[in-house]
Amino acid sequence: MKKILKEFLISALLFFGTLYVTLQVDWMKALHLYPTIVGDKLSEWVWKISEMSLRKVNDHDVCAPIDSLVSEMCKANGISTADIHVVITRDDEVNAYATVGNHLIINTALIEKMKNESQLCAVIAHEMAHFRLGHIQSAVRQQTIITVFLALITGNGNSNMLANLTNKIISNSITRAKEDEADEQGARYLHAMHLDPMEMANTLETFESYGVLSYFMDHSDSKKRAEHIRKMHFKKNGPYQQILSEEAWVRLKKACL
Ligand SMILES: [Zn+2]
Repeated sequence: MKKILKEFLISALLFFGTLYVTLQVDWMKALHLYPTIVGDKLSEWVWKISEMSLRKVNDHDVCAPIDSLVSEMCKANGISTADIHVVITRDDEVNAYATVGNHLIINTALIEKMKNESQLCAVIAHEMAHFRLGHIQSAVRQQTIITVFLALITGNGNSNMLANLTNKIISNSITRAKEDEADEQGARYLHAMHLDPMEMANTLETFESYGVLSYFMDHSDSKKRAEHIRKMHFKKNGPYQQILSEEAWVRLKKACL
C-alpha cells in the first residue's frame, strides 16, 4: 500500500512539476513558431477544443442586437467586422473575455446584468481594445503550446479543463497597465460611435457593485479604473445615440435570463 502511495505521489509531483516548468516558458517564442502558419493552425485547433466546452446561443433575440452593437462599433472605429468573432454563451458567470482566433466570448449572465446598451458596449469595447492593442496575441501563442502539450498527455479528453486553463493563462498575462489601456481605448470607441464614453466608468462600477470576479476586472480594483476614465477629456461629438429599440433591448435581456 505504502509503495502505491509513494508511486502515486512521485507521479503527481512529476506531472505538476512538468506543468509548472511548461508554464514558465514562452514556448512559441523559444521554438520560433510565430508568426508562422504552424502557429495559426495550432491556434485554430486550440479554439476547436475550447469551443466544445461552450454552450453557444443562437437565439435571434440575442444574436441580432449584439450583432448590431458590434457592427456599429466596428463601423465607427474603422475596424473590420471580419476581424472579430463574437460568441454568446449560456453561462451563469458574469463575464466576457477575449480569446484565441479573435473570438470575443460574452456570457448571457453578463448581458442580463448590464443596465443599458452603452454598458454592454463598454464591455465589448474593452475586450475589442485588448485585441487591437495586441494584448491577447502573445498570451495566445503561449497558451497554444501549453494546450497542445496538455491535450497530448491527457488524450484530449477534458475540453473543459483545457478551455479554462486557456482563459486563465490569457487573463493572467494582462497587467493592470494593459487593463487601463483597454479601458481608455474602449472609452474612445464608445465616443466615436456617439455613446457616452463615461459609461465605461459606470460599467466598471456596476461590476464592483455586483462584487463579481471576472476576467473583465480580475487585475485591479474597478473603482480606481473608473476614476482613471473619469479624468479623460472628450471633445463634443454630437448627441448620444440609441442603437437598439427599447423592445429589442427588453427582448435581449429576457432571452438571457
Ligand atoms: Zn481586460
